[in-house]
Amino acid sequence: MTFAENAMKPLLLTHVKPMAFGPATPGGVVDILVGADGRIAQIGSSLAVTEDVTRVDGMGAWISPGWIDLHVHIWHGGTDISIRPSECGAERGVTTLVDAGSAGEANFHGFREYIIEPAKERIKAFLNLGSIGLVACNRVPELRDIRDIDLDRILECYAENSEHIVGIKVRASHVITGSWGVTPVKLGKKIAKILKVPMMVHVGEPPALYDEVLEILGPGDVVTHCFNGKAGSSIMEDEDLYNLAARCADEGVRLDIGHGGASFSFKVAEAAIKRGLLPFSISTDLHGHSMNFPVWDMATTMSKLLCVGMPFDKVVEAVTHAPASVIKLPMEDRLSVGSRADFTIFDLVDSDLEATDSNGDVSVLTKLFEPRYSVIGSEAITASRYKPKARKLVRHSHGYSWR
Ligand SMILES: [Zn+2]
Repeated sequence: MTFAENAMKPLLLTHVKPMAFGPATPGGVVDILVGADGRIAQIGSSLAVTEDVTRVDGMGAWISPGWIDLHVHIWHGGTDISIRPSECGAERGVTTLVDAGSAGEANFHGFREYIIEPAKERIKAFLNLGSIGLVACNRVPELRDIRDIDLDRILECYAENSEHIVGIKVRASHVITGSWGVTPVKLGKKIAKILKVPMMVHVGEPPALYDEVLEILGPGDVVTHCFNGKAGSSIMEDEDLYNLAARCADEGVRLDIGHGGASFSFKVAEAAIKRGLLPFSISTDLHGHSMNFPVWDMATTMSKLLCVGMPFDKVVEAVTHAPASVIKLPMEDRLSVGSRADFTIFDLVDSDLEATDSNGDVSVLTKLFEPRYSVIGSEAITASRYKPKARKLVRHSHGYSWR
């Protein structure tokens, strides 16, 4: 039977254990009936349903609000680095994907028409401050000088796409901005203020310094790659930067993981969490050069944070309520009759899987998040962790790299 045929029928989820639905979360194992209209019709233990329904047995698995990945790259075909939404979305347990600046004002219309609108998943986007976005990522940088930013066109693009755009993205790293320093971050903040949306800033190779970026950000803004292990950008190599990050987090700046190919360190994350500094949100920064190594998917990234000491319920909150607040997605009554179904069904299983961070450090994950289903309306999509493909050594103009 195809998903389309399934979607016509009501969906009965049996033996699922709700978590992260707020104070009214029912205890123990329940059944949930979702009507053919995609809305919750009934919740209870051992529902007696006589009508013709699609049945999914959760076998005691957890059910939470659908997972949200706050940092992915899915402008597939419009940038050289992006993957398809289907590669990191419902089939991986993620029902909402937030693209972090793959599109700029010059090409956002294509992203909307060819990716956002046809996708099964809910897709939101941070608009890149640079007009061209990540067309030829890091080969044709999007923020070389002021000619790469068009304030009027950004405002126009936002006006036409405000239901899709949730903020402004700035990649503040010398790989992109050369010696331009922190100026693009200041311009991004100005635009974000005018539009009354958050700004997400990528921190990496200085300039700009992580410290300078934090000084510009305000409550509600997001710093992604927060626990990177890069020289000059790690919060664990400079006590002043650590204290600044901790103070900004207290004041409402959101520290986002944004694992990616180069931006998550087990050592930094473990040390920060041990000192009580937890990430606000857990995101993958999945793209074509990070998926097979070292990120794989959302569930593995969540398992990595669990492994370095983040509590289980905090990990789930960091992929549900936390990113939902950034994109203004309402989270009240997500398990109430009449609400639209948007769930992830998952298990936490024992494991001895070896996983690698962006610095090449290896940890054994003793517990693994295993997504089983994504539920979007009356459709249940089978989900699993990504099985990485063998890496290939690729030759290019300035050497070799693993792909
Ligand atoms: Zn990214």
